[in-house]
Amino acid sequence: MIIKRIPAGIYAANCFLLMDDPTKNAAIIDPGGDGDDIIKEIEKLGAKPQYILLTHGHFDHVGAVDELRGKYNIPVYINKNDEELINSGVEVFGKIGSPNNPLSDNMVISLGELKIRCIETPGHTPGGMCFLIQDALFTGDTLFAGSIGRTDFVGGDFNSIIKSIKSKLLVLKDDVKVYPGHGLTTTIGVERVSNPFL
Ligand SMILES: [Zn+2]
Repeated sequence: MIIKRIPAGIYAANCFLLMDDPTKNAAIIDPGGDGDDIIKEIEKLGAKPQYILLTHGHFDHVGAVDELRGKYNIPVYINKNDEELINSGVEVFGKIGSPNNPLSDNMVISLGELKIRCIETPGHTPGGMCFLIQDALFTGDTLFAGSIGRTDFVGGDFNSIIKSIKSKLLVLKDDVKVYPGHGLTTTIGVERVSNPFL
């Protein structure tokens, strides 16, 4: 498994390329902008993009979705709750085309020999999702190193994000590595003992 972080877009949201090494099949997680930079990394790795996974629908995480969807002719996965907010034009949500595939809690998606488990974590947005692959957890704007996502945007809810993190993420093993939507990586163990919001 190869994970490549590409800070993209005006807020430098983390786009991640997740690649299954033997097959080179890859998922593009949260392409927030700078499609050219993402394409360059894909080509450098020799990756074969299979689909785009979105942790949520905010514009800084979806800015390059349609560019990459068009270039590679691949499906896009997003939780329905966030797709609805996108379609109703709510500010801070981005614009993406359709059709899109719905993500739901506990859904498992294959990537070559890897299995991606989808975990629904509402709070930052109503359709927030995290993705767990072996000991790697992609948390979008739900959990950061030393912080959590804002809940003051439309659809955000503080009690929900705390409940999501405590009941769905902190139950994972200490050594699970966390790849957040902004900033640096951390681990579940470190956040459990030192994150001031938890
Ligand atoms: Zn966000």
